[in-house]
Amino acid sequence: MQLTLLGTGCPKVNHKRFGPSNLVSTKKTSILIDCGSGVTQRLQEVKFSSADINALFLTHLHSDHVVDLYQLIISSWHSYRTKPWKIFGPKGTKKFVKKIMEAWKDERIQRIKYEQRSSIEAFNIIVTEFNRYGKIKINDLKIEYFLVDHKPVKYAYGFNFYYQRKKLTISGDTKPCENLMKYGQLTDVLLHEVFIEGEKDKITKMRTKKTLHNVKNYHTLSTMVGKVARIVRCKKLVLTHFVPTWFNEKKLINVVKKDFGKSPIIGKDLLKIKI
Ligand SMILES: [Zn+2]
Ligand SMILES: [Zn+2]
Repeated sequence: MQLTLLGTGCPKVNHKRFGPSNLVSTKKTSILIDCGSGVTQRLQEVKFSSADINALFLTHLHSDHVVDLYQLIISSWHSYRTKPWKIFGPKGTKKFVKKIMEAWKDERIQRIKYEQRSSIEAFNIIVTEFNRYGKIKINDLKIEYFLVDHKPVKYAYGFNFYYQRKKLTISGDTKPCENLMKYGQLTDVLLHEVFIEGEKDKITKMRTKKTLHNVKNYHTLSTMVGKVARIVRCKKLVLTHFVPTWFNEKKLINVVKKDFGKSPIIGKDLLKIKI
């Protein structure tokens, strides 16, 4: 299986790190995880058409992870998608998708009528909402989902992907979390979010101490992520969802290595990892 990092950024704009999104693929199957800002452009860069995606999995409904959902759907139609979209996400996904489709309904109807394309299946969206824990099979990929801790977000998930005795774990957005340490055990690759300590300490009128504290408090600090990886006993640790997106790479590697015992891979947009 292959993991492609499509977007390794966060809500703050950085033209080198697009919004959170990842692609997990085998020869037969491709699954998109989250659809942050710029996902369709990044898909095109790795020569993947949104028309071919088998399913979209959403970690949670924070805007940075779902903001390009409509762009994904509409561009898949323009790319001649001839099958429905299967979307798996937390409680609230059905309502969210319904509202988005509603917002663009008039424009879409006019466009469909005028452009007369042969299929409108791309607009047929089948949403499945997660329970607390579960397993889903998409062709040759087995996916396990589990709750992580991104409070006050009530429903945020991490994922395991299994393919030919290999395991990939994706943390989603979370603070250090027992479920991740439990379900991620002995994974081949742990893709984990990180909040980089010491890079964002500037307190300003807009970014108060309280704001900074609260943002830190629902993410995993760079001084913690190596400890999490050690407990998980992953073979490789790949970091993503960098807050902030501009930082000293060497410093980050050293901090994490101290706890993990091995150097982490600093994720970059378009990086491909074979698992
Ligand atoms: Zn989030
Ligand atoms: Zn996020």
